[in-house]
Amino acid sequence: MKKVVIIGSGFGGIEAAEVLKGKVDLTVIDKNPFFIYQPSMHEVAVGRTKEKSIRFDLKKYYEKHNIRFYNEELWCVKPFEKVVLTKTRKISYDYIILAIGGVTNYCGIKGMKEHSFDIWDYKSIQETIRKETEKSRFYKEKNNIIVCGAGLTGIELAAELIERTKANILLVEACKDILPGLKKAEKTVFNILKNKGVHIMTNTVVSRAEKGVVYLRNNKKIYAGTIIWCGGIKANPVNQKTGLRTNNRGLIMTNEYLQSSNASIYSVGDCAYQYKNPQPTTAQTAIQEGRTAANNILLSINNKDKEIFRQKNQKYLVSLGRWKGVYLEKTLRTGIIPAIIKKLVEKTYVFKHILL
Ligand SMILES: Cc1cc2nc3c(=O)[nH]c(=O)nc-3n(C[C@H](O)[C@H](O)[C@H](O)COP(=O)(O)OP(=O)(O)OC[C@H]3O[C@@H](n4cnc5c(N)ncnc54)[C@H](O)[C@@H]3O)c2cc1C
Repeated sequence: MKKVVIIGSGFGGIEAAEVLKGKVDLTVIDKNPFFIYQPSMHEVAVGRTKEKSIRFDLKKYYEKHNIRFYNEELWCVKPFEKVVLTKTRKISYDYIILAIGGVTNYCGIKGMKEHSFDIWDYKSIQETIRKETEKSRFYKEKNNIIVCGAGLTGIELAAELIERTKANILLVEACKDILPGLKKAEKTVFNILKNKGVHIMTNTVVSRAEKGVVYLRNNKKIYAGTIIWCGGIKANPVNQKTGLRTNNRGLIMTNEYLQSSNASIYSVGDCAYQYKNPQPTTAQTAIQEGRTAANNILLSINNKDKEIFRQKNQKYLVSLGRWKGVYLEKTLRTGIIPAIIKKLVEKTYVFKHILL
């Protein structure tokens, strides 16, 4: 049996493993013991959802499916020897699927990493907000929470925070509009957030941060009990340890079959960049790419023509607090239904992987 190693067990890696199980000699490695359903982390940050309902244990999951799983960090790939190295193991392969996602991009803003939370710190955010809320009972003025970055994560978090805390929620965005990249939804989401009471500051560039204060490029500063950074992701630095060709942002370049510069190494999801057909960095993309990469490995083992990656219609489900959401496909819908559908998608994904 051909040996396939999947590195990274997020949305892309898990999907690929599901296609390949039982058909190849499969090994999955991930540096984390749990899968975390990232689209719902903001709900845990505000205490609406429990952490345990958005995660599952990878070891248990792979045991159930008779798939070899190592909870280890990729150290490097040696393509000439055809081995993957972790700190303690040397794993030989015929094919690799690299699906290690991205890392938080602090955009070089001085002090931001040290003095802000990112959404992965959801438990610390919850705890800090609780403490700040308690303290604020003794003061007349409301406490400030600054959310830096009004992309999907920032707007979803701001909407939850305004519902769940008594603080002023300041949503700061460097671009002239919120939701850069989702033009169709921008106005609607802007109005919903504004009506909820979120203070939206567009065209506002953050230049540095210190404990409890964010400095703006226009020399103003904003004090806040809590600063949360939602400025997006950048390439995982581990990409550079693979020896594969990367683009100017450090993402692994792949062709339409999702092969990297080394034909036996496929790359999918947030760590990859299809140079002929760039895709949005979403869970949907990672899942679809994971499936295509796995299928292409099976096709190539069977000496058949590989399939070209074709993205199914991208749909966006955005939650704006507990009872409101936005659904964007060809048209835009708002109301309670998108919020419910988003919750159902999360529950189905997580429970399916816990139970089956
Ligand atoms: C707050 C938030 C909200 C989001 N909301 C949505 C949404 O509503 N809809 C949507 O479609 N997308 C959403 N996304 C984006 C989506 O979560 C990502 O696009 C998706 O997770 C990418 O999947 P992936 O498999 O490429 O990487 P990931 O899911 O990030 O998985 C990467 C895996 O690789 C592992 N790994 C990393 N480095 C190493 C290493 N060196 N060695 C071993 N393992 C490693 C990690 O532990 C992780 O398990 C959201 C993201 C965030 C952060």
